[in-house]
Amino acid sequence: MIGHLLALAITGAALASSSSPSTAEVVCACQRLNQIHSPEVLSPSSANYTEERIRFWDIRSDLYPACIFQPSNADEVAEGVKIVSACNAPFAIRGGGHMNFPGSNNIDGGVLITLNKLQDYKVHNDTIEVGPGMKWIDVVRALDPYHRAVIGGRLKTIGVPGLTLIGGVHYFINKYGFAMDNVVRYDVVLGNGTQVIADKSTNRDLFWALKGGANNFGLVTRFTLKTYHMPNVSTTIQTFEELEVYDFIKAAVALSRVDDRNPIAAGGFLTIQHNVTTKAISASLMGVQEGISNPPSQFANFTAIEGPIKMHNVTTMLQWTEDKDTPNQMFRIAFSAHSIVPNANRLYEIYQTWKASVETLSDVQGIYPTFVINLCPTGAVRAGRNTDVGNTWDLALEPTIWWQFSTGWDLAQDDIRMTSWSRDLSESLHEENRQLSLAREHVYMGDAGEWQDAFATFPKENIKRMKEIQAAVDPQGVFSRLNWGGFKLSP
Ligand SMILES: Cc1cc2nc3c(=O)[nH]c(=O)nc-3n(C[C@H](O)[C@H](O)[C@H](O)COP(=O)(O)OP(=O)(O)OC[C@H]3O[C@@H](n4cnc5c(N)ncnc54)[C@H](O)[C@@H]3O)c2cc1C
Repeated sequence: MIGHLLALAITGAALASSSSPSTAEVVCACQRLNQIHSPEVLSPSSANYTEERIRFWDIRSDLYPACIFQPSNADEVAEGVKIVSACNAPFAIRGGGHMNFPGSNNIDGGVLITLNKLQDYKVHNDTIEVGPGMKWIDVVRALDPYHRAVIGGRLKTIGVPGLTLIGGVHYFINKYGFAMDNVVRYDVVLGNGTQVIADKSTNRDLFWALKGGANNFGLVTRFTLKTYHMPNVSTTIQTFEELEVYDFIKAAVALSRVDDRNPIAAGGFLTIQHNVTTKAISASLMGVQEGISNPPSQFANFTAIEGPIKMHNVTTMLQWTEDKDTPNQMFRIAFSAHSIVPNANRLYEIYQTWKASVETLSDVQGIYPTFVINLCPTGAVRAGRNTDVGNTWDLALEPTIWWQFSTGWDLAQDDIRMTSWSRDLSESLHEENRQLSLAREHVYMGDAGEWQDAFATFPKENIKRMKEIQAAVDPQGVFSRLNWGGFKLSP
């Protein structure tokens, strides 16, 4: 009864404090959700509505949902999906809230389903079941007493679901493949509200499609991930000065080309930062390797460069991850990303062009430009091929480097200027790479900007198969028509 009274309080007028007025469909969904789960539904007048509305990494993602539904378990998720579907209401899903553009994980005037409360996990001998409300640090913490590790996010506060559904770049992809390659089972709520599992023997097509298919098939309420014995990791933090950037890039290229059939798991976070005010350039490596070799042997080419900071340590995955925080509301930020074959001279040219171009933005308040180098060694591709079903990317068996511009700034008035700058520069450099026959087309959704069509870079036959699977599991098009956000398979 109380729920019913509260439902009556959620009227179109109350919902319309957003920048987009609520439609009858959304009013229908918010009212019905409120009738069934009133404590878990927030309206704009609820005490913690604002806190939830801005629980995102990119400040640009702070939109105004008409109501926010916070289910606590898979059954409630299923009821919620049934309701938005029955009312024909647009909705968005938020996991860890780190996808970086407006509308990728939030919605103006629609229903936002948040997964924060789905935090249950269960540790087995060589797998862990995790809820989609978990951050990677939660998974690392859960496994620490067992001396085991997962292939997930490299930083502490990235969400489990978003990263796992788009691929997932971890330090150890060279040996174990991407996060998606390490999922042995997905528990999924489909568009009609039914709950299914997808693994190598049940719903095998869906199992494959979820490996890179993002939020196009259903809402995943549990991931079962492989784990690996990893009592210790050997880590290195190194920085380099501007004159050492070429050697830094050369070392990155060399690491991307390592292709041992029995590899040592090792990889890093490689960035070049430009402080536009002081004009200082500095490159940095945060490297992690399985085992106790100290300094970590796989980073020898970096260690050989003089560099001002060299900090090596043998530690645990938990200790390493604990301070790698990327808090919510960190920036307004734009990403742009493309792939190239490993080529140090060309990457250095790209860096130089980026550096010169960034300097033209010195009047942008709070500008924070980073050139990111992600390595995709052959081993990462091979490990994915060697799983039960492979993945939706089907990358060629060769090393590639995924170069990315990550650019932060302070003011909304600069949004269009900054996103256009990032897009134009990366597109023109990628076009030059094509002319030089150095470009590769694959775009990783985790590094991409909102203007990029990552699915257009997947193999055509895989897209065809994914669309067939989507039509079979979601004939009403709940996850294509009504679910907003992120990267969608085109109709
Ligand atoms: C600072 C930073 C560091 C990063 N580091 C890495 C890294 O090391 N490796 C890497 O691979 N990527 C990295 N990324 C990219 C990251 O993987 C993506 O942004 C990813 O989407 C984040 O997952 P999330 O759960 O936090 O995202 P969210 O923003 O919550 O969700 C992302 C998308 O997935 C959908 N979604 C979320 N949960 C579900 C679900 N349960 N079912 C269906 N759809 C769902 C959402 O609707 C949204 O469209 C990084 C990003 C940032 C901002």
